[in-house]
Amino acid sequence: MTGPGGRHVIIVGGGASGVLLTYQLLHRSSCSLRVTLIEQRPDIGRGIAYHTGNPDHLLNVRAANMSALPDQPDHFWRWLVSRQDGIPICPDPYCFVPRRVYGDYIASLLDRGASDCADEQRLTIVHSRCIDVSSGPDEAVAALEDGRRIVGDTIVLATGHDMRASSPGRVDPWTPPSAAPIDVNAAVLILGTGLTMVDYVLSLLRDGHRGPIIATSRRGLLARPHRRVDSMRIAEAEVPFGASIATLLSWIRARVAQHAAQGGDWRGVIDGLRPYTQRLWHELPLSSKRRFLEHARAWWDVHRHRMAPELESRITAALFSGQLNLMAAKVIKIEPNRDGAKVTYRRRGAAETHHLQVGAVVDCTGIVKDPTATPNSAVRSLFERGLACVDPLRIGIEIHPSCAIVDSEGVPSERLFAVGPLTRATFWEIIAIPDIRNQCAELAALLSREETGQLPTRRELSNV
Ligand SMILES: Cc1cc2nc3c(=O)[nH]c(=O)nc-3n(C[C@H](O)[C@H](O)[C@H](O)COP(=O)(O)OP(=O)(O)OC[C@H]3O[C@@H](n4cnc5c(N)ncnc54)[C@H](O)[C@@H]3O)c2cc1C
Repeated sequence: MTGPGGRHVIIVGGGASGVLLTYQLLHRSSCSLRVTLIEQRPDIGRGIAYHTGNPDHLLNVRAANMSALPDQPDHFWRWLVSRQDGIPICPDPYCFVPRRVYGDYIASLLDRGASDCADEQRLTIVHSRCIDVSSGPDEAVAALEDGRRIVGDTIVLATGHDMRASSPGRVDPWTPPSAAPIDVNAAVLILGTGLTMVDYVLSLLRDGHRGPIIATSRRGLLARPHRRVDSMRIAEAEVPFGASIATLLSWIRARVAQHAAQGGDWRGVIDGLRPYTQRLWHELPLSSKRRFLEHARAWWDVHRHRMAPELESRITAALFSGQLNLMAAKVIKIEPNRDGAKVTYRRRGAAETHHLQVGAVVDCTGIVKDPTATPNSAVRSLFERGLACVDPLRIGIEIHPSCAIVDSEGVPSERLFAVGPLTRATFWEIIAIPDIRNQCAELAALLSREETGQLPTRRELSNV
């Protein structure tokens, strides 16, 4: 049922994905479509990635690739130039700008006058936490923690990364060190060696930390830096879709070797694969997906999710000075004590365990690994109501290629959808803006088929 005022789409989560989808819906649909955007934070468009105030926290994708709009690839760059007022924040589109600035850009997408209709009547922003999502034959309902119920035709979850609930003895990496003071001379153990660790090390150094910093993960791998290279053109017909992970990885290695022999850089090959990674994931046999997650994911991540060259120089300097150490190890036990915590660990490949007294342990290992253990009650309510199920790899919720949430009976919903990192089980590469912007444009097109006033039918969904 579409209400008398036209279809009402409720979006839960006003981070980058929620804003991109809102923008697309307001621009693509007839003026009768309304959007309610629910966000628990005071800011819209920032989420975890772009709320940081630390100017050292840079984008890890060059400005040229960060347009929010797939049909206007230079949109972000033009916005950046227009607000520079003669003071260049960035010399050219290859640069990496502070993430805070990018948050300003995303928020600006919802400025008044963003579409031809009277937007203020079409978009309602609600600042509250959604604690329950339900759907019936005629409506979908989002219940808020302040007791309100928002009723619409469709709900889209754009709740982003499911962060771990904080646990005793561990510092949350999203709290800057200045807000949770750590003795500047104390040893700090960081769990995880990915880009969140890089952020946290930069925050510690900015705050004048003098003590040793030990970053640990199973393999101790560090993200590779970006270089000024163009992505290679790889024809779709060359890509071994549906092959096993072993075949796929040896094909990638061969392409890299061939490219290098011609004077190219491996980054060109990795970036050249970007248009195909979602299809590669989709067609990878389940057993290969498992092997990839277990054995190759860390390798892929450090090559695929790279750091800005400016950050590389600071991290390299900290490594050379000996203040920062990367350790391939398994942390076995963390025992909080008066001075911080006593940590028991075992180095990779070694049998014996060691102990380390640190002033603080910072958990930069990222997202919740078990989707049903999510601290997000909106997502949990879907499992409890049988409106969602966990995918076979247990990395996310089961999502139909149309973005419809699949229920516990295996049926894609006509009213409940998801975008962004929550959809990783189906799309895998769906955490960065260049992928999310396409997904939001496609879902907005599907939800905007308003001529008949009907929701997409199951048959339409299964043809997507
Ligand atoms: C540290 C970091 C740096 C990154 N850097 C880049 C980069 O440089 N380039 C790039 O392309 N990508 C980057 N990414 C990837 C990033 O995930 C995406 O760019 C994008 O920010 C994802 O947005 P999102 O809205 O899906 O998720 P999030 O940013 O997680 O936002 C989700 C929003 O939903 C809200 N929310 C959640 N649950 C509820 C609820 N129940 N009720 C109400 N509100 C709710 C949250 O408060 C949050 O604002 C980075 C990610 C991280 C974590």
